Amino acid sequence: MTSLEQLKSMDRASVLHPFTQAKDYASGAADCFVVESGSGVRIKGADGTELIDAFGGLYCVNVGYGRLEIADAIAEQARKLAYYHSYAGHTTEALARLSARLIEMAPAGMSKVFYGLSGSDANETNAKLVWYYNNLRGQPRKKKIISRERGYHGCSVISGSMTGLSFYHQHMDLPLPIVRHAGVPHHYWGAQAGETEQQFSKRRADELEALILQEGPETVGAFIAEPVLGTGGLIPPPEGYWKQIQAVLNRYDVLLIADEVVCGFGRIGTPFGSDRYGMRPDLITAAKGLTSAYVPMSASIIGERIWNVVRDGAEQVGAFSHGYTYSGHPLGAAAANVCLDILERENLADNAERVGSHLREQFVRELASNEFVGEIRGVGMLAAIEFVADRATKRRFDPALKVGARLSAAARKRGLITRAMPHGDILGFAPPLVLTRADADQIVAITCEAVKEVTQQLKREKAA
Ligand code: PMP
Repeated sequence: MTSLEQLKSMDRASVLHPFTQAKDYASGAADCFVVESGSGVRIKGADGTELIDAFGGLYCVNVGYGRLEIADAIAEQARKLAYYHSYAGHTTEALARLSARLIEMAPAGMSKVFYGLSGSDANETNAKLVWYYNNLRGQPRKKKIISRERGYHGCSVISGSMTGLSFYHQHMDLPLPIVRHAGVPHHYWGAQAGETEQQFSKRRADELEALILQEGPETVGAFIAEPVLGTGGLIPPPEGYWKQIQAVLNRYDVLLIADEVVCGFGRIGTPFGSDRYGMRPDLITAAKGLTSAYVPMSASIIGERIWNVVRDGAEQVGAFSHGYTYSGHPLGAAAANVCLDILERENLADNAERVGSHLREQFVRELASNEFVGEIRGVGMLAAIEFVADRATKRRFDPALKVGARLSAAARKRGLITRAMPHGDILGFAPPLVLTRADADQIVAITCEAVKEVTQQLKREKAA
């Protein structure tokens, strides 16, 4: 049998891992952790280490690890029919049932579902649908896509361009010139002195309008955004934001793509994030929670406005020429159907709201007075703690101090996985939606110990 050390050296010798220092990993200087099993909100390493996963993988394992019910459904589908394509009108029972269900569950006005395998490819599809729609309706110049700074939409060529985090662009020849980025709706950092959330939202909407006018409304096809900004820092929208943004988009005939890859399927307490904020999207990007990552699957949910043009345009242009070998994969559909059953049966959206609120309340109770805690925020089962060097002036820490990474390492050492969000010193939490209050309390207790350790280090370093 291969020993754990042999496995690690095989991996170091042969895998290029995402977001890993390639040279350090290959040489053995950076950690390798072999994950072996998972149950509920916990994962276990091959070395026996048990960890609470307060980030649900990459905020995707919404129903928790180790659901045999999903494993059985996948196995049953695989035994019967592991694969057939969905080109030229082929389907399976699992896919037809899933699609009817998604349309019923989605916000009003959604009409069809196109399937992919990842959030990135679903956003690629959505961008192409915007272009296709505008070509078919005789608006061939209406192609630019506006996203937001610090928005995250994936890392493929179009989705990576829409992502508003510069390290996804550097050395990769991105972003494409067709994309523009609007301002981050983060009141804590962006508001002017005395500006209320409503006023700040109005300013962001006015800026979006100015950007559309500057580019020329006849060249702007769509605005893409996450209902709650995710990877860029877990930032719920300020009050009134979506209402004001929606009004601007309507005024200039700009489509709205709601990237619900994180917010969809109960994560923020409602079926979709759009429901919570009254957004009226033309396209929805879904992935992660759709199958809770038991099988890779994504969906572009298409609104009537676009569907009507696609349907009628078919006479002019023939078949819809876009699709993947694995679009509508039967194993993904089988997993998704059971996932949605679990979501409903266990009221996981309600649990996300209740236990998520408890988690944030406990963070506030325990950590709000810490001299380095700038803001504690979140919604549903999302929470973030943002650290600053000086609360009064909101001075940031020197990035070289790597405060976020130190905090998440201090938590990890104590058996808790959190995520140091890639912008600023932000500790992010997005546990599976099945989290209990007792689990939440454990997360808070370990986080407090980690924060205490790093706070003491920082004070010592300041004094030195
Ligand atoms: N959109 C959002 C909002 C995401 O958070 C992510 C992934 N974190 C993606 C798109 C891309 O999904 P994937 O990694 O599956 O390509």
